[in-house]
Amino acid sequence: MSAHAFRHVSAWVFDLDNTLYPPSARLFDQIEARMTAWVADALKVDAAEANRLRAHYWAQYGTTLAGLMAEHGIDPDPYLHEVHEIELHALRPDPLLAARIAALPGRRIVYTNATTPYAQRVLEARGLSGLFDAVYGVVEAGFRPKPERAAFETIFGLDGLDPTRAAMFEDDARNLAAPHAMGMQTVHVAPHPAPADHIHHHTDDLTAFLGRILTAAG
Ligand SMILES: [Mg+2]
Repeated sequence: MSAHAFRHVSAWVFDLDNTLYPPSARLFDQIEARMTAWVADALKVDAAEANRLRAHYWAQYGTTLAGLMAEHGIDPDPYLHEVHEIELHALRPDPLLAARIAALPGRRIVYTNATTPYAQRVLEARGLSGLFDAVYGVVEAGFRPKPERAAFETIFGLDGLDPTRAAMFEDDARNLAAPHAMGMQTVHVAPHPAPADHIHHHTDDLTAFLGRILTAAG
């Protein structure tokens, strides 16, 4: 990682799930089970067909919700509430991550395809409450999901954020394509690299990566 890459950055944008906590917490397993149950119930299909549809929606529309809205016109609010009613016992506060996020110079925001009430619960469980200037979710994005560029444009417009002076941290490599095209520094936070032209940096340890940025900025 060349720390010079972040010298111009004054806004730090973080995805939530599997970015601000490790995938080993397996929260998404709970969410996925609830999404599958919702699809099965709403569309009157069995679990296998619900999973097939979810894979199709994810590939075609970016998220299960976007597919349900596009193909079935479902009301997003009850869905979003239901799928995020999960247990957060697997999360632990992370004081070192909190300290490093707090030390980043400039504006710090969370942008998730989930909802802001859920994001606030997760941040609280991670000991990261109060560190962010704003938290945005799919509702604020007009129900358009990452990876759609229009979704990023909506959120960055709301925030007044200049993408050419910002960095995006995200575990889903697809969700870094639009940020890269908009001029952001892109950081893929995941156990394994996914080499792609739109990914500037990869790390499997967000806390360590932020530490290197801060040392270089020091
Ligand atoms: Mg994520």
